[in-house]
Amino acid sequence: MSSQILLLPGDGIGPEVVREARRVLEAADAQFSLGLSFSEGRLGGIAIDEEGAAYPDATRALARGADAILLGAVGGSQWDALPAADRPERGLLAIRADLDLFCNHRPALLFPDLAEASSLRAELVAGLDVLIVRELTGGIYFGEPRGITTNADGVREGYNTDRYSETEIRRIGRLAFEAAQKRGGRLCSVDKANVLEVTMLWRETMESLSADYPDVALSHMYVDNAAMQLVREPKQFDVLVTGNLFGDILSDIAAMLTGSIGMLPSASLNADAKGLYEPVHGSAPDIAGTDSANPLATILSAAMLLRYSLNAPEAAEAIEGAVASVLAQGLRTADLIVDGNHAAAVGTRAMGDAVVAALRGH
Ligand code: NAD
Repeated sequence: MSSQILLLPGDGIGPEVVREARRVLEAADAQFSLGLSFSEGRLGGIAIDEEGAAYPDATRALARGADAILLGAVGGSQWDALPAADRPERGLLAIRADLDLFCNHRPALLFPDLAEASSLRAELVAGLDVLIVRELTGGIYFGEPRGITTNADGVREGYNTDRYSETEIRRIGRLAFEAAQKRGGRLCSVDKANVLEVTMLWRETMESLSADYPDVALSHMYVDNAAMQLVREPKQFDVLVTGNLFGDILSDIAAMLTGSIGMLPSASLNADAKGLYEPVHGSAPDIAGTDSANPLATILSAAMLLRYSLNAPEAAEAIEGAVASVLAQGLRTADLIVDGNHAAAVGTRAMGDAVVAALRGH
C-alpha cells in the first residue's frame, strides 16, 4: 500500500532542509519498503508570489488528499509589508485550521553529544526527553469576542477570550494520555486553575479522563511553577499537556534546553492521526541559500511523520539512530558549534549525506 507524502518546502531555508529530509525518507523507504510517494505544493510566501494566496486551492487539495505533510518554513522580510491577513504565516494557520490539526507534539530531546550546547549545565539536561503536548486550534488565540475598542471614557481597550469546551479538552487530553502510555507513563497537566475558570474546567476534565488511563500517573502544575521547574529540573517531566497559550511559551523554554533551534522537530495531528510535520524553527532568511542551515530538525520531523501518521516506528527509530550516530561522529552544522570554530562546520547537504549514509549502515 502506498502512502502519499506532501512536501511543502516553503520559504527561506525551507527548500534546503526539506530536500535533505526527502532524501532521508527515500533511503528509509528503500530499507523498510514503506511504499512512499511524494507530491510537492506551495505554502507561504512562495505561494503568495506564484499563486496569489498563502494557502492556495491547489495546495489545499493536495493536503486533503495526502496521508501526511512535511513542511519546511514560511515567511521572509519581502512579505512583511503585506497586511497581517495576507502574510505567509497565515498559510500556516489556514492549513492547521483546514485539517483540524488540534494536537501539537513537541519533543525536547537532548542528544547526549549536544549536552554542551544547552543553556543549562550538562548534568541537568543529560538524557533529557520531555514531550510537550499543546492544544493548537483553541484557547485565547482563537476565542471570541476579541478586539480593540474604545470604552465610555474614551480610552482604548484590548481584549481576548480564553475559551475551551469540555469536548476540546477531552480530545487533546486523550492524545496526551495515549502519548504518556507509550512513553514513561507520567502526564503533567499544566494550568492556572487557581485564577482562570477556563483552566479549572481543564483540570477537572483531565482528572475525569484519568479514570480511563489507570496506567498513567496524572499530576497537575500551575503554569508559573511549570516554567520554573523546566529550567530548574527539567528531567522530572515525561509528558506535559497544556492549552494553546501556555504551550506556546513552555515549548520555547523547553527548546532552549536542547541546544539549538535547528534540532527541534514537531508534529501537529488531527483526530485521524493525519499530521503536519515541521521543524520548530522559521525560514532563517539570514542564512537562506548558503548551505549552512541545520537540516536535522526537519529530518527528525520526517521520523515523527513515519511514527505517528504512517505507523512505521522501526523506520522512525532508524532515522533517529542515524542522527544520533552522525552527532557522535562529531559532525556539526554551524548552529551546533559552541567553541566558535565555525571552519569545522559541515553544510546542509553534507549533513544530509551523512544521515543517509548512517541510515544505510555505512
Ligand atoms: P528563525 O527561526 O527563522 O531564525 C532565528 C535564528 O535561528 C536565525 O539566526 C537563524 O539563522 C537561526 N536558525 C533557524 N533555523 C536554523 C537552522 N535550521 N539551522 C541553523 N540556524 C537556524 O526565526 P526568525 O528569524 O524570528 O523568523 C524568520 C522568518 O521565519 C520570519 O518571517 C518568521 O515569521 C518566520 N517563521 C516561520 C515559522 C514557521 O514557518 N513555522 C516559525 C517561526 C518563524
